[in-house]
Amino acid sequence: RKARMKAEEELKEANRRLEALSLTDQLTGLFNRRHLYVVFDSESRRARRDKMQLAYYLIDIDYFKRFNDSYGHLCGDMALRQVANCLQRACRRPSDAAFRIGGEEFSILSVHRSAEDVVVFGEKMRQSIEDLKIPHQGSDINEFVTVSVGGACKVPSSEDTFDYFMAEADRRLYQAKSSGRNRLAVSD
Ligand code: GH3
Ligand code: MG
Ligand code: MG
Repeated sequence: RKARMKAEEELKEANRRLEALSLTDQLTGLFNRRHLYVVFDSESRRARRDKMQLAYYLIDIDYFKRFNDSYGHLCGDMALRQVANCLQRACRRPSDAAFRIGGEEFSILSVHRSAEDVVVFGEKMRQSIEDLKIPHQGSDINEFVTVSVGGACKVPSSEDTFDYFMAEADRRLYQAKSSGRNRLAVSD
């Protein structure tokens, strides 16, 4: 019995270490927050060199607490996977990457020629989630699951850290939520 307990402890410890090394989120298979910092560094350097717009989108599911309340946590997890797959499909180019940054919050990093293209990509992505038609009876705004999206975009200079993009996208996400949800707001 003692030997088995020891083996179980060792297995748990090994799993903890594996998770610390992992680049991906267990539930959805998307890249995790830790890997976001790595990808941001290389993409921002590349965008600066090529004089391209670096776009950072924060994507938050609308009324997701009520989704769990209506359908249960397991269905909630399934919906998270569906949303994650949809975001992954939106990432067609090699420079696009999708992340789960926690709970029901996701993000996408991508590179565009112009600010208009940043809006077009974000709007398409928002629409594609609505088009999944996942029923959501607890939502005040739609019969299906929707997301609000806050975007920051800029040709980065060497001073534009990840924190700048994060803060700007977060501000826009708040704006998208407070002006009715299921919409995109992007910094100009
Ligand atoms: P808002 O439209 O303002 O974003 O409202 P909201 O309900 O989506 O936001 P809130 O932050 O109040 O709730 C987020 C919920 O997401 C709470 C929690 O139950 C759920 N959640 C977070 N992580 C997971 C997860 O891994 N699985 C499931 N099923 N639910 C999760
Ligand atoms: Mg949230
Ligand atoms: Mg939410």
